[in-house]
Amino acid sequence: MARSAEICSRWNIKKIGGFALSDRIETNQAPMTGPSQKPLLGLNHNELDALIDEFHEPSYRAQQVFEALYRQRVESLEQISTLPASLRRELSERGYGIGAPAIESKFQSLDGTVRYLIACTDGQTVETVWMPEGDGGEAGDGSEAGEETSRRWDRATVCVSSQIGCAVDCQFCLTAQLGMKRNLSAGEIVGQVCAVLRDQNVSPPRDRINLVFMGMGEPFLNYDNCMKAVRLLVEGVGIPESRMTLSTAGIVPRIHDFGAEPVRPKLAISLNASNDEMRTQLMPINKKWNLALLLEVARTFPLRPRERLTFEYVLLADINDSPEHARQVVELVRGLRAKVNLIALNPGPGIAFGTPQSDRVLAFQKVLVSAGVPAFIRRPRGRDIYAACGQLKRTLEVSAAESRMVQLG
Ligand code: SAH
Repeated sequence: MARSAEICSRWNIKKIGGFALSDRIETNQAPMTGPSQKPLLGLNHNELDALIDEFHEPSYRAQQVFEALYRQRVESLEQISTLPASLRRELSERGYGIGAPAIESKFQSLDGTVRYLIACTDGQTVETVWMPEGDGGEAGDGSEAGEETSRRWDRATVCVSSQIGCAVDCQFCLTAQLGMKRNLSAGEIVGQVCAVLRDQNVSPPRDRINLVFMGMGEPFLNYDNCMKAVRLLVEGVGIPESRMTLSTAGIVPRIHDFGAEPVRPKLAISLNASNDEMRTQLMPINKKWNLALLLEVARTFPLRPRERLTFEYVLLADINDSPEHARQVVELVRGLRAKVNLIALNPGPGIAFGTPQSDRVLAFQKVLVSAGVPAFIRRPRGRDIYAACGQLKRTLEVSAAESRMVQLG
């Protein structure tokens, strides 16, 4: 408790909704590649083949670099021990580096969730989250009940960011308040996963790792980089596409493209409202692609055998959480092979909504389940470390701005 108070005062972080930052346990590792270096991380087989060809090296060297980047998850050229020293030197002399994003700081929640701030080579930071035992809902197999086991964890979920900031402007989301800074490259997306796997000392496929694109940003407004990252994560890092879920605010044309991808994660759609009027207020993107268009693309989405769509629904007290709203959701998803993940709002600074009481959440779930719609309540994870989308980065920004104001005043 004393430690947590000390951390709060160091960062000047106010307690939000009764939760305080529990522990900051690591800081400021330097990024492994300078901004001017050309990153190898993010290159696929074809691009590595072309690169190795430029260096007049035998083609099997490309496979060695691929293995080093994605299976061994090296952080420096020197660690690629399969390459001759001369080639490593030449790569370095010609400006190449790994480009691995580095863990800048790390926050450990009381519930086991670890939230990382990861620094890209240009110094911008993104949030990546490690959740032992999954995120309480992505599997959809009932395991979210969360029975305790003797092992440290049976499965874990890594939550990655796809952009720095976000342009979608959902009213309950802290990432929206950051504004849109830039897209992440495929290498920066894969690099988040590599950094966390290294830090947690785990390795798929031996360890069962799920991956969700549910961090900062809208993956479908950075479509090509996200899809390239998915392929590298499957082929290189060894996480099967069936263990990945990508979440979108509802970029309808990209949902259509996603359905045609030969390698694709499962799809989650952030519904968050039960009618157009409410959804437009909460998620302005609904003006462009309304519920009719969204549900139409959902209905034609080519699901694999036994696959289900996920609809996410953030419950906001007295806004979208009544039994009547739940009945509207039932009508929207009727006939779809889908489940609904319910999550009570994770509050944050500048968010004008409240978190519903748990009996409200249970009543909402009951309406869905009674109507035959599978619905799961996702346990809020890492609330004490601001683990909702964009919360940590935004909270640190707000507190830094406040402390600057205090200094100026
Ligand atoms: N842009 C994508 C992915 C990032 S957000 C999307 O919209 O789906 C991932 C999920 O977190 C979304 O379902 C979003 O609705 C939810 N979310 C955002 N802010 C939240 C908050 N403060 N509390 C709970 N869930 C939140």
